[in-house]
Amino acid sequence: MTRSAAGGPPGAYAGIDIGGTTTQVVLCTGDLTVLDRAEVPTPAAEGGHAMVGAALAALRPLLDRVPARLLGVGVGAAGVVDARAGRVLAASDSFHAWAGFAVTAAVEAALGVPAFLDNDVNAFLRGEVSKGAVAGESHVLAMTLGTGVGGALWLDGALFDGPRGAAGEIGHVPGFGDTPCSCGGRGHLETLASGRFIAARYARRSGRHTTARGVAAAAGRGDPHALAVFGAAGSAVARAILITAGLVDVTTVVLGGGVSGAWPLLEPSIRTALRADPPVSGAPVRLVRARLGSDAVAIGAASRARTELGAG
Ligand SMILES: [Zn+2]
Repeated sequence: MTRSAAGGPPGAYAGIDIGGTTTQVVLCTGDLTVLDRAEVPTPAAEGGHAMVGAALAALRPLLDRVPARLLGVGVGAAGVVDARAGRVLAASDSFHAWAGFAVTAAVEAALGVPAFLDNDVNAFLRGEVSKGAVAGESHVLAMTLGTGVGGALWLDGALFDGPRGAAGEIGHVPGFGDTPCSCGGRGHLETLASGRFIAARYARRSGRHTTARGVAAAAGRGDPHALAVFGAAGSAVARAILITAGLVDVTTVVLGGGVSGAWPLLEPSIRTALRADPPVSGAPVRLVRARLGSDAVAIGAASRARTELGAG
């Protein structure tokens, strides 16, 4: 923390991660060290006011406990967001009255400091670049393998989100088979590499219904169907990495999300495919696992606030 010139309390940034089931809140120093944190259920069925209200109710005790002056707040949220207007554009069916909600306006009205909104995968990447596995790197692709597959791009030392905020959405590019995707498209990377589809593919092959975690456990016991499903997921992820590296010359890929917990299963097939078909630059792409765990989105959101406010 840096003390203000007037000798008052040091400045701090808050980061809020509003997910489908839980909301994480962190309070960070100026160098994004976490001072305190809280986690509450997301009242997703009760609408935007309730969701932001729950996050703020979780943040207030942190602000009371920690002797710091709040400078700004970042919010990372699932769904399609307008990061410039601070508003949610579209969200999954599990969120009620979230699409269209003006998130930053509600936070600013409640706390009286500037607030900023990011898509959760973009915030995840900001977090890992600020304090995590790819700290200080300039050209990074992030992929989150969770229920779905998210992606984000960090180019020339800044987030590149494109004119409509959809840059880096590698989970929903075609060319990965013919299976209908959760988004309504077909043959997207998500249909091979997400938890939802890993479970579905395993069920189709083996007749056994379980979660992606269950499939990973089965693979650990040598189940050939589970090993084949994870092998296909890994080589699809590698192909997506190589396409991205060929287009925008990223040097590094950071993988996160619940499915990346099966790292010993995924990593060998990804590395094999990366080695077999290196980018035209001849430089191998570095593959790393995310390091900030469930804090990544909240820390990344705080990092956005810090950057926007000119402090880093
Ligand atoms: Zn899709």
